[in-house]
Amino acid sequence: MSLFRDDGVVLRAQKLGEADRIITLLTRHHGRVRAVARGVRKTKSKFGARLEPFSHVDVQFFSRGSELLGRGLPLCTQVETIAPYGGSIVTDYGRYTAGTAMLETAERFAENEGEPAVQQYLLLVGGLRTLAAGLHESHLVLDAFLLRSLAVNGYGASFTDCAKCGLDGPNRFFSLPAGGVLCGDCRVPGCAVPSPETLVLLGALLSGDWRTADSCEPRYWREGSGLVAAYLQWHLERGIRSMRYVEK
Ligand SMILES: [Zn+2]
Repeated sequence: MSLFRDDGVVLRAQKLGEADRIITLLTRHHGRVRAVARGVRKTKSKFGARLEPFSHVDVQFFSRGSELLGRGLPLCTQVETIAPYGGSIVTDYGRYTAGTAMLETAERFAENEGEPAVQQYLLLVGGLRTLAAGLHESHLVLDAFLLRSLAVNGYGASFTDCAKCGLDGPNRFFSLPAGGVLCGDCRVPGCAVPSPETLVLLGALLSGDWRTADSCEPRYWREGSGLVAAYLQWHLERGIRSMRYVEK
């Protein structure tokens, strides 16, 4: 039997029997963890309210086997709130849909339970904090999160230099299989040719240049979101269901 502690973001809460829930978290040290929270639906316990999606929490787990590999799911025995991001996310449709797509994407990239995904975890915490603060358009926060999630999982896109030969940008021909823009010599059939402003926007979102991203014209936001969605789709076997609800 063992106790372990970790902080994490609640990705999902599913019903289990009459009163319990199975909570899926993306944790700092253990990657994706599923655990049982007992009795949380029976009363209006604070314990249950802390384990809602989007919450950043510190959890003590109790496991009958050796941590995650033991028999059955671990139990959540103590929960402290670090940041209740859900409060300002679920009350705003744009934030809620963007946030839901972020949780689903994070879960998908952290598919192997118990396998650390520290960078993905840090991106999610940072992304939810930014989303909850409401300082930027929700769909931009989502697109920045998606581009960076792809990057930390080995699918970083290039929006300036040629993804094949490295020729200095700007380059215009965007290829999903090549992982970014291609120069005139390297271009392949089937490239998209987005507006130069859109490519500047995507580069800004990837690098965290909010000044450039915020001041971009909405039509480039839309074109950029389409490319990000296509690029994400290219690298994930199944699409992210919640993407279809995101307002552009
Ligand atoms: Zn090239």
